[in-house]
Amino acid sequence: MSVAVFGGTFDPVHFGHLRAAVEVREALNAKVIRLMPAAIPWLKDQPGTRPEDRLAMLQAAVRDIDGLEADDRELRRGGNTYTVDTLQELRTEIGDSEPIYFAMGADAFSQLHRWREWQALFDLAHIVVMHRPGYRVQADPVTERFLAGRQATLPLAARDAAGRVIELPVTQLEISATDIRRRLANGQAVEFLMPPAVIQYINVHGLYQPVPNQAKCGSND
Ligand code: ATP
Ligand code: MG
Repeated sequence: MSVAVFGGTFDPVHFGHLRAAVEVREALNAKVIRLMPAAIPWLKDQPGTRPEDRLAMLQAAVRDIDGLEADDRELRRGGNTYTVDTLQELRTEIGDSEPIYFAMGADAFSQLHRWREWQALFDLAHIVVMHRPGYRVQADPVTERFLAGRQATLPLAARDAAGRVIELPVTQLEISATDIRRRLANGQAVEFLMPPAVIQYINVHGLYQPVPNQAKCGSND
């Protein structure tokens, strides 16, 4: 049985993540895809939201959706989140023969060379690169050289347990958590960008709210 995982900050989770996750799961013919919030996403600005809230929003989003699960292993491990550690854990759990697929968007893929021990990821898993509006599927030149000959299509990649890079067109939704946080900080509506249960959680817990008496946020992150 293969394992499919999708890492992110999920601050907050939105339909761009969720629709992509559904399509990756279907393309892989996997029983479930696990969405894993990072404890400390050390490569980017730190989330202003507590890890428990990011997890709770994710759980609310996938509740009752077949095949999508929230996996809190990176939060339980704590500290800087290194995907190589996560994939090593999963590999130890399932053994060497079954494929592990790690899904990331094209924007994340372009930064792969900055990830800790990024080459080792390919000893542990296949990487599925999901198309994302505004980004080309292209890694930096060193990574591209490393990946030469590793490109594969589905289901052929499943012949190996790890080591392939698989490009996957998914429905293009130009939604980002940065944009959602900005809208909320400006007091704007976020309906139809994320599931109602997530919006409800945000409202009940007063997350991402406008700071009183502050000028509206501009377009910078
Ligand atoms: P932020 O704006 O805070 O960076 P984000 O919307 O990019 O948030 P992340 O949690 O950073 O969300 O993304 C987690 C993973 O999901 C990354 O691999 C990213 O490329 C992918 N992803 C996020 N949004 C989309 C989308 N709209 N379409 C496809 N992939 C996406
Ligand atoms: Mg992002």
